[in-house]
Amino acid sequence: MRISVKTQKSLDGFENNIVLMDEKGKLSLGGRKLPGGKALSGPIETKDFKGELGGTHLLYGPANSRWLLTGLGKGPFTARHWRDAAAAAQKAFAALDITQAAFVLPAEADVFEIVTGLMLSGYVYDRYLPAKKKGKYLSRVILLLPESASKAKADKARKLAEAQAAGTLLARDLMCSPGNLAGPEYLAATAKEIAKNSGGRIKVKIKRQAQLEKEGFDALLTVGRGSRKEAHLIEMEYNPEGKRTLALVGKGITFDSGGISLKPGAAMDEMKYDMGGAAAVLGTFRALAELNYPHRIIGIVPTCENMPGGDAYRPGDIIKARSGVTIEVKNTDAEGRIILADGLDYAKEFNPELIIDVATLTGACVVALGNEAAAILGNEKGEAHYDALVESGKATGERVWPMPMFEEYDYLIESPVADIKNTGGRNGGTITAAKFLQHFADPKPWVHVDIAGAAWGDKERGIRPRGGNGFGVRLFLNFFDRF
Ligand SMILES: [Zn+2]
Repeated sequence: MRISVKTQKSLDGFENNIVLMDEKGKLSLGGRKLPGGKALSGPIETKDFKGELGGTHLLYGPANSRWLLTGLGKGPFTARHWRDAAAAAQKAFAALDITQAAFVLPAEADVFEIVTGLMLSGYVYDRYLPAKKKGKYLSRVILLLPESASKAKADKARKLAEAQAAGTLLARDLMCSPGNLAGPEYLAATAKEIAKNSGGRIKVKIKRQAQLEKEGFDALLTVGRGSRKEAHLIEMEYNPEGKRTLALVGKGITFDSGGISLKPGAAMDEMKYDMGGAAAVLGTFRALAELNYPHRIIGIVPTCENMPGGDAYRPGDIIKARSGVTIEVKNTDAEGRIILADGLDYAKEFNPELIIDVATLTGACVVALGNEAAAILGNEKGEAHYDALVESGKATGERVWPMPMFEEYDYLIESPVADIKNTGGRNGGTITAAKFLQHFADPKPWVHVDIAGAAWGDKERGIRPRGGNGFGVRLFLNFFDRF
């Protein structure tokens, strides 16, 4: 999608136009008049359309021009209003096979959110679909602001939103790519591609099997052993000169069969999404490749496939992680936390002021928060960042909510044969998973983001597509500004 900004006194000259209308029936024209005037106002007075957020109503004006009334809902207008209205307009016009449109905006419009809504709506993973089944999108949109608005300011917001959306779109593509096509090697190649196109902003290093063995990444290697695909560790560095260092660690299980503790067959295909954390990290770096932040940001992605091959790890096995902590394997389907153990331990070597890990980690999190929010848990120093993360969630719609890490839960992962065991049972599963991770993140300030529910969904809604949605990219980029 190509988006440009234009400031213009009149609204003449475009065939396809998007106009925002609130629930009072007021059009947001930025002080300008519709061509044809009254002809367009009739149906509004008959209350055919009430301006509800997410709704649209198509009218025709002079010279067969189209005017898509798009609901902005009820004020005061927040980021979500502008974003969801733009998403609804994009989808409504694209459904009519329209490719170009002018978007009439008032001076106070939130251009960043409008562009986000345009770019992220209607997403379909269509790489292997025939032409007639591919996703439909507007390919060219002109944002028409009144002359009183600043074009420079709008262009800056547009560019920022475009970079962020490109990151989210990459994360979605990665999540939706099936396990046979997008294994650990593919994620590593994607990281290299991002670095190559970053104009020198990002450096990447890939550790493969032999290197991982040499450096003691036994937790990661153990999980990957049941697959023919080699485990990898992806390491990315943004802005090495930055004064403050922040590390993002993403779980990259490219397919999770459960291993020897095999999952039930129903919906097992969804386990291609088990690299949603890795997708969030790679998507964030895809956006960073075009952006200037003052911080040094480290991205770590331990990645492998969890399969029940002949050399697969077993329940009862004891693994010595890179940090030296020993892990009793109670269930091979609780593999994400095992690879994150080495990822977190490695991240500490960069001496970050904060480590955030992101993972589709527990079914318990889906039960607790559904698909609408991710859980955040952390150690005491990590908790200091909760408020900022919750605010970022509110602004971006990628909602997060804290869960407790009381010491009363500690005994649940005690093991009679090792330092800890890899499951704490069904109850409180999100918390005991985080408790496990804490053994590898301490003493650095650390927050764990469980996106098991938030990273995908069955229903399309606003800018969220059905399937993998790239959750985390916009959340983290927003958070960097508050860090
Ligand atoms: Zn699993």
